Formats: sequence, C-alpha cells, structure tokens
Amino acid sequence: MRRATITFDNGPDAVVTPAVLDILRRKGVRAHFFVLGKHLVDRPGRDLVARAVAEGHLVGNHSFTHEVPLGDDPRPDAVASEIAATEALLAPLVPGPRRFRPFGGGGVLGPHLLSAGAARHLVDNAYTCVLWTSVPRDWVDPAGWVARALEDCRAQPHAVVVLHDIPNACLAGLEGFLDAARAEEIDLVTDLPLAVTPIVDGEVVGDLDAVVARAGRA
Ligand SMILES: [Zn+2]
Repeated sequence: MRRATITFDNGPDAVVTPAVLDILRRKGVRAHFFVLGKHLVDRPGRDLVARAVAEGHLVGNHSFTHEVPLGDDPRPDAVASEIAATEALLAPLVPGPRRFRPFGGGGVLGPHLLSAGAARHLVDNAYTCVLWTSVPRDWVDPAGWVARALEDCRAQPHAVVVLHDIPNACLAGLEGFLDAARAEEIDLVTDLPLAVTPIVDGEVVGDLDAVVARAGRA
C-alpha cells in the first residue's frame, strides 16, 4: 500500500488552521504542522498549536520570520532569532521530540536551506530535520494542487506532501484531496521516511550536506 504523510507549513492562521483541523478531525487524519514563531507571539496562535496537539497532530518549528532561508541568512544571530526563539514559544505547548523544517525557494531542496551553524544547532539540540518529497504548490494554485499532490502520491511509495494552512492555499481542495487519496488506498500516516530526515533526534543519518551551505558561500 502506498503511504503519504501530509504536512502543513507557515501557520497557524486564525481562520484557515481551525478549518484545516476540522477537516482532519472529520476525516480521521493526523498530520504534521510546521509553524512560524511570529504567529505564536499572540495567544490565539498558541491556542491553535495546543488544539492541534490535543487532536493528535505533530507540531514542529519552521523558523520565526520565514524571510531569508537559513543557508543564505548572513545575520550572526540567525539561529538564535529564527530557530531558538520559535522553540522557546513552542516548547511549553508541544511534547518532544523537537522537529525543525527548513524553508526556502518555493520548495526547492538545496544548500540554501541551512547554514552550518543551523545544522550544528539542530544536532546539538536533538532535533529531527524534516524535509519533503512533494510540493504541489497549493499557494500558487489553490484548486489545481490536488491533482499534482495525487500524482506525487501515486509516483512514490511514501510521499511527504507540503501544504500550507494560510489563506488562499490548500484549504479549498483539502477535503477532496483526502477523499481521493483514501479512494486510491493511499494510507495517510504521520511517520516520516528516512529520505526526508537527514537528522533524527540529533543524529545525522542522511545526506545533510545536500541542504547545508558550504563555509564561505555567499
Ligand atoms: Zn514554509
């Protein structure tokens, strides 16, 4: 049986995330959410994380501002202000283990995703680094992403699909996607294939170099 892990990035959003959670609950699907620290500063954002956790979802760190990919971020305090500051807000809400998903470039994997310092921080703080295998571009095409996501799920034994719980992205197609995946007997799970986790609980187990900027790289 083919499997797929569904992930939602860049939230929580006051309108979209509750609707996504309602659909997942109705369909009996559990997922991952990778949230932004800037959305956790206020209480409603933190309450949505607490709801997601209470409903059986897994919530991880996706940076604070989501502005400059960490491999391209020249700020000396980028790791502290993007990863650690978000974790400080998440930690009281989310039981371990820690998970971090880097971002950048419309879903393109590459050395822009992490700096050497960020990779070291993830290892030293026992994170699992979560990449992906499918980016159906829901934020570009809120209706058409479903067909691309299904194609990716058919083409891979275990797809890890990136969606976004932000306005004008996955929400309109989500219920149809879940129904279609089920109809095609794609098992919707929360575990992650090793191919998308170059670091597991602080241990480098995959091709981390592929997503870390080389020293001296501009
Ligand atoms: Zn993102």
